Amino acid sequence: MKIKEDNKLHEIQKEYDIIIGLEVHIELSTEKKLFCNCKNEFTLEPNKNVCPVCLGLPGSLPVINFQAIEYFIRFASALNCEIQNHSKFDRKNYFYPDMPKNYQISQYDLPLALKGYLFLPKANKYVYLRRIHLEEDTGKSIHIGGDNLREAHWTLLNYNRAGVPLIEIVTEPVINSPEEAVEFLYLLRLTALYTKISDVKMEEGSLRCDANISLKPKDFQTLGTKVEIKNINSFRFLYRALVYEIERQYNLLKQGKEIIQETRGWDEKTQTTYSMRSKEESHDYRYFPEPDLLPLNISKDIINNLSFKNQTPIDFYISYLKHNLTHEEILFLLDSQELNDLYNQVVNLVQNYAFNNNFNSYKEVVKFFKTDLAYLLNENLINIADLSIKNIAKIIILLVNKEINTVNLKDHLINLVKKGTDIDNYLENNNLIIREDINLVKEIVDKVIRDNPQAVKDYKEGKEKAISFLIGQAMKEIKSKAKPETVKNIILNKLANL
Ligand SMILES: [Zn+2]
Repeated sequence: MKIKEDNKLHEIQKEYDIIIGLEVHIELSTEKKLFCNCKNEFTLEPNKNVCPVCLGLPGSLPVINFQAIEYFIRFASALNCEIQNHSKFDRKNYFYPDMPKNYQISQYDLPLALKGYLFLPKANKYVYLRRIHLEEDTGKSIHIGGDNLREAHWTLLNYNRAGVPLIEIVTEPVINSPEEAVEFLYLLRLTALYTKISDVKMEEGSLRCDANISLKPKDFQTLGTKVEIKNINSFRFLYRALVYEIERQYNLLKQGKEIIQETRGWDEKTQTTYSMRSKEESHDYRYFPEPDLLPLNISKDIINNLSFKNQTPIDFYISYLKHNLTHEEILFLLDSQELNDLYNQVVNLVQNYAFNNNFNSYKEVVKFFKTDLAYLLNENLINIADLSIKNIAKIIILLVNKEINTVNLKDHLINLVKKGTDIDNYLENNNLIIREDINLVKEIVDKVIRDNPQAVKDYKEGKEKAISFLIGQAMKEIKSKAKPETVKNIILNKLANL
């Protein structure tokens, strides 16, 4: 998630406040859909997971899936929301062919959760949330011969997704740059992963977002006219669409032109936004309470029981700052929950049995994870479940103490880290432990200096690199009998006395 700094934005930010609010949709990975018994499953065969309820056939009635409520409470509590004891569902009326009932069951004036916040550690600010509610997803239209219903020759409809539970998160307009928007969406995605409510695969549409953007002159109190960008489905797309839209609005304002309140789409080909329609207001949807569902009454006890009690990604992030890890190192760990668990288990073990809680080489652990372990995992040479935490902890301790021969370490890595390897025997049998024999080192160093007069001469003439050559020559023979540092010191000492 590397993002290039945009110079023009800095110029714009001198004159205007950039005001961004996000609406994020996350599909829940419950077993069933929200109001019927159809499987909530991504399947290739169209119109396979459907029934009279999610097809809106006459006489069918919705029944709330309690698992969706469980997932919702877990997620909303991780976002510090005020989960409501009393809420209800409403009908949002509009026509679109992928919505068979001609209305969507959503929540309007009494959503299941209000307020809440997400802390952005990099931007060092809180993004406050306005509300979170539960609603059903629509089906999927596949337009053929054009990009939308009006232009297409044919439109195919797949109702497998109709009725899938969806959470909508609405932020307050408190995000002030495209970088902050990306950081927010990234951490929100991680929160969904860590609370295990969704697979949050953006490419499959289980996480998507709309962005509202406006520019406000620094000395104005009221917000400018906002424009909404729809259906954002990647971090890159979010960043680029925001940058483009901010610059577009800035140019209009500079020319004294009016900004129209509208909904715009993002065209990947031209990397520009285009007008879709003038923005609809909530009264256009003729919301009214869903007559086929009772209001939701959830007791405080149930909410407490279902609340998320483990560490959130933000909790981990903040604790890793105490490990002196950089933003990139932290994101590397957080990006995979399994790797993050492994890191914590390894660090706990290392702290317990080797350093009397004085361990401070966390970077060494991340470095080992990032280079050595990530290679094995990415190449599918080993599964994360087959890794031995104890063995990894042992290697970390040896690395920190510089007591392991790193020259051939790569060749032995799989055997060393996998479960079932008796690591002490293995290290011993393969000569991987460094046991210093200073007399032997001195002998070998004398010989190397004798045999390489040119390198000695180079060093004396100020060519620092010659020392690395001499160390290399010596290490070839010394192998596991000394740390490279020790060898270097002995060579320097000898050369100084020549
Ligand atoms: Zn169904």
